[in-house]
Amino acid sequence: MKTMEHLSPIKTVNPFNNQVVKEFDVMTSEELEAIIARADDAFQSWKKTPLSQRAKLLHKVASIMRNRKEELGKLATLEMGKLLRESIGEVEISANIFDYYADNGEKLLADQPLETPIGSAFISYEPIGVLLSVQPWNFPFYQITRSAAPNIMAGNTILLKHASNVPQCAAIMEKIFLEAGAPKGVYNNLFVPGSKVDVIVADKRIKGVSLTGSELAGGSIASAAGKYVKKSTLELGGSDTFIVLDDANIDEAVDAAVYGRMWNAGQVCVSPKRIIVEKSIADVFLKKVQAKFTTLKVGDPMDPTTDVAPLSSEKAAQDVIAQVEQAVKEGAQLLYGGHRVDCPGAFVEPTILTDIKPSMAAYFEEIFGPVFMFYIVKDEREAIALANATDFGLGGSVFSSNEKRAVNIARQIDTGMVYINHVTGIAPELPFGGTKNSGYGREQSIAGIYEFVNSKLIRITEAKNSY
Ligand code: NAP
Repeated sequence: MKTMEHLSPIKTVNPFNNQVVKEFDVMTSEELEAIIARADDAFQSWKKTPLSQRAKLLHKVASIMRNRKEELGKLATLEMGKLLRESIGEVEISANIFDYYADNGEKLLADQPLETPIGSAFISYEPIGVLLSVQPWNFPFYQITRSAAPNIMAGNTILLKHASNVPQCAAIMEKIFLEAGAPKGVYNNLFVPGSKVDVIVADKRIKGVSLTGSELAGGSIASAAGKYVKKSTLELGGSDTFIVLDDANIDEAVDAAVYGRMWNAGQVCVSPKRIIVEKSIADVFLKKVQAKFTTLKVGDPMDPTTDVAPLSSEKAAQDVIAQVEQAVKEGAQLLYGGHRVDCPGAFVEPTILTDIKPSMAAYFEEIFGPVFMFYIVKDEREAIALANATDFGLGGSVFSSNEKRAVNIARQIDTGMVYINHVTGIAPELPFGGTKNSGYGREQSIAGIYEFVNSKLIRITEAKNSY
């Protein structure tokens, strides 16, 4: 394995003021080797640990997280800038996901009998080994949880490679697992850069890899996983639509769109990035959105009165501004905002872009910041066509007072999730994931626990009767 000693350090930079808070050394090749060996060793006993004991560990992790939610929340806000109340909410939902798999894992992983005319047969769900989990910064605790909770319940062991800008959140989760009683090696934090992930995927002891992140990282990880024949799941970007039909409750739709798009300063994979409104209500809808925008307070994410946080980094803010400027250069109208906020920190004004055409990059791109891309359509057919005119296929929403009409439209949207009268959300028992270039595989829910298990057939029959 190549040496990694000379790569740039992993840092906490507070996006509220862009000050460096703390730096961490990238792990040496020897340190990494020792961690992989420890995770592989731990797997040999963890796979035989009774499900009830695995569940006990996950419940304990959940309870520690709940008890320390303020402290953990502050850490997330410090490192990637989201509103403190959102950070605390994220810790709570993460604890709920740990509890969900602790409560349901035993039932979900029990042998499943199969109907067969000759003899008997069943599926035995067996863990496969050490998994690499590569995660982004936008939900520093929830993202870790989505892969760790089901897989540790299933008997796998985890190597977490978190985003390089949230090292303290990454490190504290390993400590929480140890404090909860996890045997050494069951859950391991790696301080390595994204560019080195391929080398880890290639290691024979790694049996699977899950990534949540960009298409670029997804393509790179999927190629490495393919080359070395490893199972992978990818949760990538999205450019979710938020369709508002002429029979929708406009005020509720406006509230949901603004809240949803300003959540995490717009840096949510399932944020409503493309707002699509039927013509007859478009003017009213847009005026109400603008009025709401004027009330939004952009500022200190630790301050409970703030509505819009800074972006995760100076580069993230510059990238969003560059996308907005490009759209305007190509002919889009800037109806609101569109600039940096005049203060230190990675701030971008809440922004509304209209008149976006297929000739513009913005029509196809994901904008990962507080930017509404507003479209007017003449009818629901046009709304569906526009919703599907993207390579992404993650989530989406349809707002209507006619449930049947909304569900009919939901069925025609090519995404992994559609919410009616709600922004795409998160719940432990509901699957999360996409289609098209938004990736493959599912996390959370029943589906999430079967991604990295060997669904082994065991058949009992006599040789003379078999086929
Ligand atoms: P990113 O650059 O792809 O980073 C995500 C993770 O991948 C980080 O740990 C990063 O490490 C690592 N990484 C980067 N380049 C890599 C490579 N070539 N090979 C292997 N690993 C690599 O993503 P981001 O831009 O920070 O995150 C935002 C994206 O994630 C958005 O597109 C968003 O929509 C998507 N996302 C999707 C979901 C979902 O559930 N579908 C949820 C949240 C976010 P370093 O930090 O060290 O570079």
